[in-house]
Amino acid sequence: MEVIATIAELQQALTPLRQSGAKIALVPTMGALHNGHLSLVAEAQKQAEIVVCSIFVNPTQFTDPKDLEKYPRPLAHDIKMLTDAGCNFVFMPSVKEMYPNYPTPENWKIDLGPAEFVLEGEFRKGHYQGVTQIVYKLFNAVKPQIALFGQKDFQQVLMIKNMVLALGLQVDIITCPIIRETDGLAMSSRNIHLSEADRQHSLVLSKALFFIEEHYNTKSLVELTEEAKAIINGVEGIQLDYLTIANGDTLLPLEVKTTTNTVALVAAKVGDTRLIDNVMIN
Ligand code: AMP
Repeated sequence: MEVIATIAELQQALTPLRQSGAKIALVPTMGALHNGHLSLVAEAQKQAEIVVCSIFVNPTQFTDPKDLEKYPRPLAHDIKMLTDAGCNFVFMPSVKEMYPNYPTPENWKIDLGPAEFVLEGEFRKGHYQGVTQIVYKLFNAVKPQIALFGQKDFQQVLMIKNMVLALGLQVDIITCPIIRETDGLAMSSRNIHLSEADRQHSLVLSKALFFIEEHYNTKSLVELTEEAKAIINGVEGIQLDYLTIANGDTLLPLEVKTTTNTVALVAAKVGDTRLIDNVMIN
């Protein structure tokens, strides 16, 4: 596996491969890799000849400077995981490489539709402008035919698909399922911040989502939402940001049950760590 830090070197390495007809896949990450990330790499390897994993903790998508500062960066561990997985390239640029004028903000504002401003967009103002800004730059640097993202960040995939549509980009967006610990907790780079007690408490998030999934056909939307919230609020040290049963395109709460494209989403602070999770109901 080649470790590359600049866009020029990346293009030098990838251009001949692209010209020889190889299909290139991009897996964008912020590092602190776990099996969820590796599942994206594995799917990319099935669908393309060359897999590029990017590791970049993108400052423009963080709303809380403390969150940015404490984001884990175990680079040697990440390189070993990607080498063992048979990834071809890891792209680890500096902040200056991606944002030459940093910290002066660049002009970036695209219309991602009304779903930008709900759920995560409400709690993390400007988050999806930052996400789409860096993903656009990564697409330009790598020029992949396909890019893989996790359903774990449900709203993020929607926003990236909206960007691809809005800008007419030639990249296929592939969504991969959520990888969970055996007890149900969705894998996340932030899980390492959980104390032993918080780790235990965090299980209530997936439990609440699985409750909605299990009882979707027998309880009303109000009962499902209220009872799932009660499951979470019954546990100490958890501050619920939202729990909703929503339409998978608009992310607006369902008013009546539907038989397709229904998703339950949750976000909560567990101790000092903010976690998100979701389950596709149908
Ligand atoms: P991150 O490094 O957290 O920005 O995540 C990089 C990519 O990995 C995103 O597309 C995430 O949705 C995806 N991802 C993160 N956690 C998981 C997981 N538990 N299962 C599947 N994909 C994940």
